[in-house]
Amino acid sequence: MSDLESKFLGCIIGCAVGDAFGEPYEGSLRSDLEKIYDLSSRYRGRYTDDTQLTLAIANSLIEGRGFNINILIDNFIKWLNEPPIGPGYGCLSAILNLAKGIRSPSNSGGNGTAMRVSPIGLFYHKEKDLDLLKKYAKESSLLTHNHWAATAGAIVVARAVAYVINKPKIDEYDFIDTLANFIDDPEYRTFPKYIRELKNYLEIPVKDALKDLGLKGVEHPFIDIFNTPEIKGKGVISGYTIPTVLCSLYSFILFPNNYQKSIEEIVRGGGDTDTTGAICGAISGTFNGIEKIPSSLVNHLKNKEQIISTAKQLYKIYVEINE
Ligand SMILES: [Mg+2]
Repeated sequence: MSDLESKFLGCIIGCAVGDAFGEPYEGSLRSDLEKIYDLSSRYRGRYTDDTQLTLAIANSLIEGRGFNINILIDNFIKWLNEPPIGPGYGCLSAILNLAKGIRSPSNSGGNGTAMRVSPIGLFYHKEKDLDLLKKYAKESSLLTHNHWAATAGAIVVARAVAYVINKPKIDEYDFIDTLANFIDDPEYRTFPKYIRELKNYLEIPVKDALKDLGLKGVEHPFIDIFNTPEIKGKGVISGYTIPTVLCSLYSFILFPNNYQKSIEEIVRGGGDTDTTGAICGAISGTFNGIEKIPSSLVNHLKNKEQIISTAKQLYKIYVEINE
């Protein structure tokens, strides 16, 4: 297998394994997860909507031999029959509408578009294709979420995959600046600023960093549920796109060469653990390649063969298009 094929497989399998790693803990608080010594003890290989929709995007790129919005819509609609596993309301309602022929994205700033975008980052990772990467990450996002943070988050995650795919090692500062600069547009408001601020978290304890980043940019009324005595200060990563993406990038940067350590750290942060696991897992899996994802996790992944086959087909089409 070529290096590049290993990275395509690492991205898609890394997303699915990260999703399944976080699945047993979705909605948990860090204070409770810290009591579990070995988070992998509850791993059952059960992935959720994050992986299902990532595969929907991958399949649309295969079928269309590149991005095609109508083929993507068809693949999103097919997902309704799988059926969806733990979907977000914004995504589900928008796709139910697509099935009726109505384009009516939700106004959600949730992480439902960042979690599924990694195949676009793979397919358009070449320097000459980065404008297409941005365009298609945005279009794929707008099908379900009509919110600047969701769009920006999807673009950032796709760009992160494209960044790491050919790097022999990660320079944290260059990685952070590249991602922030890529969305440095008034349209994306505070998102680039928050990405740049990641530099301030690299030298402090992980626990403190994730507690703070986990609620970054969350505003009233959504912050209110985290300010109750039951949750406040106990550690959680919100499903709003900004904290989800910041924490996922942060956990990757901390342990770039260690796939399992990066997903363990992000899942231990609590909150939307399947999605943070999926995003961090896709980026780390791309950087490290399939061989560096522990086989004990890959072997127990549900529908492993089918997921690997999709990733291989995506790679094959990519090579044909780029020959
Ligand atoms: Mg999920």
